[in-house]
Amino acid sequence: RHGQGAVTRFAPSPTGRLHLGHAFSALRSHDRAGKAGRFLLRIEDIDGTRSRPEFVGAILADLAWLGLRWAEPVWHQSDRLPVYAEALERLRGEGLLYPCFCTRAEIAASLSAPHGADGQLYPGTCRRLSPAEAAARAGEPHCWRLDMAQAVHRAGPLFWQDELAGGVRADPRSAGDVVLARKDAPASYHLAVTIDDAAQGVTHVVRGTDLFEATHVHRLLQALLGLPVPVWHHHPLLAGADGRRLAKRHGAPTLAALREAGEDGPALAAMLREGRLPHGYRSG
Ligand code: GLU
Repeated sequence: RHGQGAVTRFAPSPTGRLHLGHAFSALRSHDRAGKAGRFLLRIEDIDGTRSRPEFVGAILADLAWLGLRWAEPVWHQSDRLPVYAEALERLRGEGLLYPCFCTRAEIAASLSAPHGADGQLYPGTCRRLSPAEAAARAGEPHCWRLDMAQAVHRAGPLFWQDELAGGVRADPRSAGDVVLARKDAPASYHLAVTIDDAAQGVTHVVRGTDLFEATHVHRLLQALLGLPVPVWHHHPLLAGADGRRLAKRHGAPTLAALREAGEDGPALAAMLREGRLPHGYRSG
């Protein structure tokens, strides 16, 4: 299925305006589908505290400005909460989830490094609660975590294919007991993205290398939920003039700012496709 007939998607979270890095990723995904394939757009808006409806319209307008077209309909994850709930119920019924009542502060305090250094995993405090203890606290705010050791044991060895990195052995343990339903949202990114890529028939998941590690978890969830396994394509990230990855927090220009500065959308898209950036930015 390489080459023709690929189904790809761009899946932004409407938590801000798109910047050059998003444009680059959307173009890579769009172009990987090619003329014979289908390019889908999915709005990942399960995070009710950070998602804003006004950013949804802005995202569509920015992508259209670049000259991108996508297959309708555009999916919104906020419409799909019952589907995620059903998958959670199934995993819960198989004994693979446990409720976690820990606050961020409690987790940080229980880790060895102050405030929990990057890469430190959830220490498993609530995994050790007895069923009676967990039941007694059911009315308290809690998320649902995957019991990773059990899940990995259940699934057995797993592998996945990346068009750029080659064959990869899944290492979901390195993510620890990931959250599958949040205290404030009925699903997590990991669960929703895995279910929706399968439900939309995505054959090639094109996204930045910043999500490479997340794929270990997604591959495991596919095995646990009996979902089809796509091919991945984790593309390198654009870097700014300082050599660092472009991101909102580094002041990367939004597409809206570039448009207001007189840039032409399709010309910018052509530039990005050649790996070039507007004046003042360079590709890493
Ligand atoms: N919604 C995610 C984000 O904005 C991307 C999801 C994905 O491509 O897997 O970072």
